[in-house]
Amino acid sequence: MAAVRQARTGGGDAEAGQDAVETARRHLVQPWPMAGSVGAEARALIGEGDGIYITDGNGKRLIDGPAGMWCINVGHRREELAKVMYDQAMQLSYNTPWYTMNAPSAELARRIADHAPGDLSHVFYTTGGSSAVETALRFMQFYNNVRGRPEKKLILSRGGAYHGSTYLAASLNGRPRDRDWMDGADDLVVKLSSPDPFRRPKGMDVAAFADMLVAEFRDRIAEIGAERIGAFVGEPVQASGGVILPPDGYLKRIRAICRDNDILFISDEVVTAFGRLGHVFASGEVFGIDPDMITFAKGVTSGYFPLGGVVISERLLEELRRSNHPDAMFAHGLTYTSHPVGCAVALKNLDILEDEVLAHARAVAPYFQARLKTLEELPLVGEVRGLGLMACVECVADRESKNPLQLDRAVGVRIDAHCHELGLLVRPLINMCVMSPPLTISREQIDDMVAILREGISRTMEDLR
Ligand code: PLP
Repeated sequence: MAAVRQARTGGGDAEAGQDAVETARRHLVQPWPMAGSVGAEARALIGEGDGIYITDGNGKRLIDGPAGMWCINVGHRREELAKVMYDQAMQLSYNTPWYTMNAPSAELARRIADHAPGDLSHVFYTTGGSSAVETALRFMQFYNNVRGRPEKKLILSRGGAYHGSTYLAASLNGRPRDRDWMDGADDLVVKLSSPDPFRRPKGMDVAAFADMLVAEFRDRIAEIGAERIGAFVGEPVQASGGVILPPDGYLKRIRAICRDNDILFISDEVVTAFGRLGHVFASGEVFGIDPDMITFAKGVTSGYFPLGGVVISERLLEELRRSNHPDAMFAHGLTYTSHPVGCAVALKNLDILEDEVLAHARAVAPYFQARLKTLEELPLVGEVRGLGLMACVECVADRESKNPLQLDRAVGVRIDAHCHELGLLVRPLINMCVMSPPLTISREQIDDMVAILREGISRTMEDLR
C-alpha cells in the first residue's frame, strides 16, 4: 500500500519515480513535446514541492525557477491554502453557475474589482488562461453583435505573443514554431510586429522603434478599417515570448489609438497579475493603462486550483444594458465557471499576497534583476532583461550580430540539464532561459539561483566549444 501511495505521488523514491515515468510513457500525452513523448527520465517527474523548492523523481531538490508555469506565486505547500480547499469542499464542493451562485465567487469578484484599474467592475470566471482569453474574445463578438456591428470582429495580435491553447486564443499566438504544425482561425486575426526592443532594426534607437510600432498599429487600422476591428489583445510584458518589455510609453499610445477607434483593448495579464510585477494587476499600477478587459489565471490561486477569468469594464456592460437588445444572451459558460473551491482558494491566496507577498516581491525585485544582469558578463549571453520577478536570459551566437543560436545547438536544453544537476529547474525556450521563481524567494535564494545559472551557462559554453 505504501509503495502504491509512493508511486501515486512520486514522493522522492527513485524506483517509484522510474515506475511513474514508465507508466507515463505508455499512457500520458504531455503538452508541447513532440508526438506525445514525455521526459524520459525520473528527473522529469516532480514528486514534491515546498516553498521555492521542488523534488524530482530521483529525490533531488531543486529551486523551482519558473514557479511551475509562472504560477506558484506564494510558494509550494502552503497549509492555509490546502486547508481552505478542504474546508470549502466539505461545505460546498460545487454548484451550477447557471441559475445558482456561491458566496466565495461574489466576494472574490468584489476584491478583484477593487484592485482593477479604471472602471473594470465585473468578473467572469473560467478554468484557466486560454479559456479567459477565449471568453474575452467571445464577449467582444457578443458586444459588437448586440451593438449592431457584426462586421467589427477582427483581432489584432503581435509577434512573440502567447495567449493560450484553445482554438481562437491559440490563433493569436506569435511565437516562432507555435504554428508550424497547427491550424488557426487566420481569417479573424491580424498579426503585428513583436514589440521586442532587443530585436529592433539595427541602428534604430528604442524611441524610434516605439514610433515605428505605433505607426504600424495606426497604418494597419487605416488599411483594414476600424469598423472591421473588434479588439487588440496584448500581454503588458510578453512572457513566453521571452519576457519582452515594450518600449516606454508604447502601451499608453496603443491604448489611446484603440480608444479613438472603438477597438477594445484586452490586456492579457495571465502571467503579470497577482504579484509577478509586484501588484495585483500591472496594467494600471505599472503601465498606467485602463484596459476594457483584463484576463487573468495562474497566480490567482498560485496554481493550487485551475481558475482564471476576465475582468470587464462597467462601460461595456452599461452599453449592453442600454442597447436595443437588453435581453440578448451571452451564450457562454463553463461547467466550472465560478467554482466555489477555486474562488475560496483564490480569496485566501489574495490575503497572503496582500498581507506579505506583494510588498516582499516589490522589495526583492531590484535585487533579483541586478543579480541576473551580472550574467551579461558571460560571452554566450546577449541580454538579460526583465521586470518584477520575471526575467529572461537570451543567448546569442555572437553579440555584435545578435544572431540567435542554431536550434541544433540546443542551448536552452543544455543549460537546463546542467542547472538540473546543480539544483535549479529552468525553463528553456530555444535559446532563452526564463526565470520567474515563487515571489517568496529571499535574497540568499536569489544568490543561489544566479550562481547555479551562471555555472550552468559556463558549462554550456564548454560544451559548445
Ligand atoms: N495568456 C498568457 C499570457 C499565458 O502566458 C498563458 C499560459 O502560459 C495563457 C494565456 C494560457 O493560459 P492557460 O495555460 O492557463 O490556459
